[in-house]
Amino acid sequence: MSSFRRDFITRPIFTLAQRVLPAMSDTEREALEAGDVWWDADLFTGNPDWSKLLSYPPARLTGEEKAFIDGPVDELCAMLDDWKINWEWRDLPPEAWDFIKRNKFFGMIIPKEYGGLGFSPYAHSEVVRKLSSRSLAAAVTVMVPNSLGPGELLMRFGTTEQRERWLPLLADGRDIPCFGLTSPEAGSDAASMIDTGVICRGDFEGREVLGLRLNWHKRYITLGPVATLLGLAFKAYDPDHLVGQQDELGITVALIPTRLPGVEIGRRHLPAMQVFQNGPNRGRDVFIPLDYIIGGKERLGQGWKMLMTALAAGRGISLPSLSAAGAAYAARTTGAYARIREQFGIPIGKFEGIEEPLARIAGTAYLLDAARRLTCAALNAGHHPAVISGIMKLQATERMRVAIDDAMDVHGGKAVIDGPQNYLGGLYRSVPVGITVEGANILTRNLIVFGQGAIRAHPYLLDEMNALSDGDPARGLDAFDKAFWKHVGHSVATLFRAWGRSWSGGLFAPAPDAGRATGFYRQLSRYASAFALCADMALLTLGGGLKRKEMLSARFGDILSELYLLSAVLKRWQDEGRPNEDIALLEWCMAAGFRTIENRLAEICTNLPNRFIGIMLKFLIQPFGARVVGPSDRVVHQCAQILLEPSAARDRLTPDLSHVEDDRGPARLEQAFLLVAAAEDASRAMHAAHLHDVGEAVKKGVITQGDADKLAAAHEAAAKVIEVDDFAPEALSPIYSKSADVHQFFQELGDQRAAS
Ligand SMILES: Cc1cc2nc3c(=O)[nH]c(=O)nc-3n(C[C@H](O)[C@H](O)[C@H](O)COP(=O)(O)OP(=O)(O)OC[C@H]3O[C@@H](n4cnc5c(N)ncnc54)[C@H](O)[C@@H]3O)c2cc1C
Repeated sequence: MSSFRRDFITRPIFTLAQRVLPAMSDTEREALEAGDVWWDADLFTGNPDWSKLLSYPPARLTGEEKAFIDGPVDELCAMLDDWKINWEWRDLPPEAWDFIKRNKFFGMIIPKEYGGLGFSPYAHSEVVRKLSSRSLAAAVTVMVPNSLGPGELLMRFGTTEQRERWLPLLADGRDIPCFGLTSPEAGSDAASMIDTGVICRGDFEGREVLGLRLNWHKRYITLGPVATLLGLAFKAYDPDHLVGQQDELGITVALIPTRLPGVEIGRRHLPAMQVFQNGPNRGRDVFIPLDYIIGGKERLGQGWKMLMTALAAGRGISLPSLSAAGAAYAARTTGAYARIREQFGIPIGKFEGIEEPLARIAGTAYLLDAARRLTCAALNAGHHPAVISGIMKLQATERMRVAIDDAMDVHGGKAVIDGPQNYLGGLYRSVPVGITVEGANILTRNLIVFGQGAIRAHPYLLDEMNALSDGDPARGLDAFDKAFWKHVGHSVATLFRAWGRSWSGGLFAPAPDAGRATGFYRQLSRYASAFALCADMALLTLGGGLKRKEMLSARFGDILSELYLLSAVLKRWQDEGRPNEDIALLEWCMAAGFRTIENRLAEICTNLPNRFIGIMLKFLIQPFGARVVGPSDRVVHQCAQILLEPSAARDRLTPDLSHVEDDRGPARLEQAFLLVAAAEDASRAMHAAHLHDVGEAVKKGVITQGDADKLAAAHEAAAKVIEVDDFAPEALSPIYSKSADVHQFFQELGDQRAAS
């Protein structure tokens, strides 16, 4: 029977699919196969097993990691003055560079046996998180050597000699690394680089050896201007067949000491006024021996695979940690400011118009940190979930953008006017950097998340594709037959599951017993099945053409992202002991996420090119269209309230941010916030008695002298916070003092003004 099925039913489908499916390039295949799958695969089944999610151990720090964060990280934070770094020095101060190297910040992920700190991904994330709440320049400087670059590539792919030689130098900062992939002609399409390495014989340190003559032009390279060791991606060629029979060997990565003749490095870019070291570099006929290729000669041409594998983990840590910190920082500062800043006689945070952005910031902070922790738990357990790390990079930076925009709006002029007292402007300017790097967001949303997710995380698709491209047709047909019919069975089950769950409003969908969150699990189970059904139908009707339907792919990516992020939110609430005070945050995240899911499902049904399938899907999963309207006003009010009061919930939402006493910024704001909150009762009593004068209120016995002192302290502290900076003209522009003509021009202008 099974051979009948294979030969007479599966074979024509197999032949048709082989013809219809577009050929995949090697770089596409390597990108798709990088890393592994994790909770994303469960979501893709359309029937996630919640007990599995809840039983994953949460990420934790070891004692040593905790001591590092409370010790050297705090010390480094205290050394950093972001205003001076950005506007006066345009660099970290030399003592900070020295401290970073000495304390092995550059070697956090390098194992102890090579002189590094051997920290877990979670510890790495916590360090980046705390540092970025103090200085982005410092956070990026520390982040880069610990993510994609020479260190990680050596640990994964380096030979024993290479690891022993380079890792100790990288661990304590004797070597500063950078990684050069992007070139002027190759940005998002990095594999199209035209940088070359030609195999030839050459002189190296007095010996004639087989090596590579390199020519390249890279740009945007972080830490490039100060790097001593450049990890370089280029295309290798062997025209004289010195290592084999092929002319074109493919993308290769090698280590280039920047002191070598022909390397031009040191000039700087200024990315969005951020002053972390970043710049272009070039190489002209630079010669390296073959054993400078990471992994040695055997790794010639394997560079793309190596990069994609490293990226599969790295993207889940650095930028998500920085973004989660950004959102938490926005939550803590914006709530505090909205509490102390009064207009129309009341704190602005009490206006409904302000409550809305406050709630959005609070919800975003809760969700991003939940997702960061869950992703770190997976990384700590040794997974390299490529699809999840893509989701994290995209969603974390995108949502940080929303949170920071909201924070800016709530602060009004206070955050617009730059100066040492502005604690938000730098973060605001840095947002486009996170959006652009490590895979620009539009590309990641439209092409990667679902494009890679559909193939990697789908229960059968990768097996089917591998079978279709199997060099042995008989073996391929056999494998295809097995995977295809399992897929058909899965699709039929998913159809009935999605239909049943949608029409019953998710009432009977599976969920663990999770107290007040149980209903949310049911809804997620419902949406997961709807997603799985729509994804199958889109793949069936569009096949490889789905790749070009970027808008559809983006919508699927958004749903998959929401399913992951909302799972993380539920897990966080559970792991933190289901605190009742945080339920509003949970509700906000769920309502906002469900709204997105419902809208994207409706858009998919409306825009699927195969109208019959589109209409059928709408009938099955959304007969009445998208019906979730987002967080209710009650939930918005409760979330905003969490940011406006000192409380355990507020501390849980914004934990472990850097705190440096009297920094003119967040510490001063926090102090004012606490004083204003402490004086609340006295203030209320005066309002109730319709009194404005504190002395009179004391005299009339409405408040005590102690209350009056509290009010005075609160008033003084708040007044200090709402101050902004101003500058003498010549302090802002050297044009005034440097050029005699200009000086005279402005002097005359001043005189005219005085006269008029
Ligand atoms: C501050 C900074 C630091 C960096 N650090 C490094 C580093 O250390 N090492 C390194 O190698 N590189 C680095 N980069 C490079 C970074 O990875 C690239 O900027 C990024 O890959 C995008 O390339 P691009 O800027 O040329 O944009 P482009 O590729 O020109 O893209 C422009 C826009 O088109 C979109 N787009 C492109 N293709 C598609 C598509 N198929 N579908 C939909 N949209 C698409 C992109 O999303 C983007 O929005 C850095 C960049 C910056 C700005």
